[in-house]
Amino acid sequence: MKILVLNAGSSSQKSCLYEITGEAVLTKPQSPVWEGKLEWTSSQGVAEMKVKTATGESLQQQLSLSTRAQVIAHLLETLYKGPTRVIDKLSDIDVVGHRVVHGGREYQESVVITEEVKQAIARLCSLAPAHNPDNLEGIEIVEQLLGQVPQVAVFDTAFHSSMPDAAGIYPGPYEWVEQGIRRYGFHGISHQYCAARVAQILDRDLTTIRLIVCHLGNGCSLAAVKNGRSVDTTMGFTPLDGLMMGSRSGAVDPGILIHLWRQGNYTAEQLDSVLNKKSGLLGISGISNDMRQIRKAIAEGNFRAQLAWDIYVHRLRFYIGAMLASLGGLDALAFTAGVGENVPEIRAAACVGFEFLGLKLDAQKNFAQPLDADIATPDSTVRVLVISTQEDWAIAAECWRLVK
Ligand code: ADP
Repeated sequence: MKILVLNAGSSSQKSCLYEITGEAVLTKPQSPVWEGKLEWTSSQGVAEMKVKTATGESLQQQLSLSTRAQVIAHLLETLYKGPTRVIDKLSDIDVVGHRVVHGGREYQESVVITEEVKQAIARLCSLAPAHNPDNLEGIEIVEQLLGQVPQVAVFDTAFHSSMPDAAGIYPGPYEWVEQGIRRYGFHGISHQYCAARVAQILDRDLTTIRLIVCHLGNGCSLAAVKNGRSVDTTMGFTPLDGLMMGSRSGAVDPGILIHLWRQGNYTAEQLDSVLNKKSGLLGISGISNDMRQIRKAIAEGNFRAQLAWDIYVHRLRFYIGAMLASLGGLDALAFTAGVGENVPEIRAAACVGFEFLGLKLDAQKNFAQPLDADIATPDSTVRVLVISTQEDWAIAAECWRLVK
């Protein structure tokens, strides 16, 4: 089965083609035969396209096409044309899977896309204005290019739909609940994949593990997993809540927004931009949203970079403590995504507060670039793991499950 995955971000579009011959088992990730990435970096609408195949062919181009649809169509052309060709024609693709950021209360599992599903994704654009419109556009582009191919929506909110109301509902007026203003949580595809992979690596049944997954990328969130289900998470109504992130603030006192609003000079768009694009590591350091740049600046003695690091670590420990309370104990702590997988100092700092649980990190294993590995000492009462998250594979596995 040939499965195309489209994973749209606010300024990027990733895509993979998987060729599955046997069974698609979630915890046995396969490598894609073709991978493409588009990044819109400049304000002129120029997109940088990078494509590579499993056999080592690659292609890099700058595209200045006028619409996103044209750019994506060009990317998909490299599947069957030029040096990165891996199929004869687009109609060879059996199913297309999409990461859809917001599934609201309606979608608690992945679904085959119908007109009704498309309408729901469109309705939910008001809850995820930076993502759902691009997800919907991706679905429509595929309809135009591939006609009646089955398409599957895999929702980033779905895994958290099992959160109990006490964790999911904000203590505002009850009307908020009726208006759908509640905690949805995001990164669900990654959290769910990592939870399954942790159980597999530990050779245990996931339903017996109280687990915290720390997804630390540009966006950051934690999930508390109990009985195999998400029971709490740090992101909320939007992906802005919770941990300090690359350029997002995470949770701040909502009174700050009222204060800024009353002082004047801030429109909703400006507040949105401050909290989503000018805060977090970037906002505090004034240097970058990228942890690599922060670490470089710290090594050069930069005070604000050090402060950004300190706040990031403090908030990480703070929310691990909160998830711990929701779980009522801890059997495993997993780190994933760009920072979680690559920065041993963050993992070590996150664990520092939790030795009282009997958690002991093996320093040597932690610094040995572990991937999909247990880095706790043998006598640690809490296992600590580094997991390479495989969102695209998880989407492909869902497509296989639904369409096989
Ligand atoms: P996204 O949330 O965009 O999917 P990723 O999971 O790829 O992001 O994480 C991106 C972030 O991970 C970067 O901004 C950077 O801060 C961090 N990162 C990636 N690789 C490294 C590394 N080798 N060392 C330190 N930080 C890294």
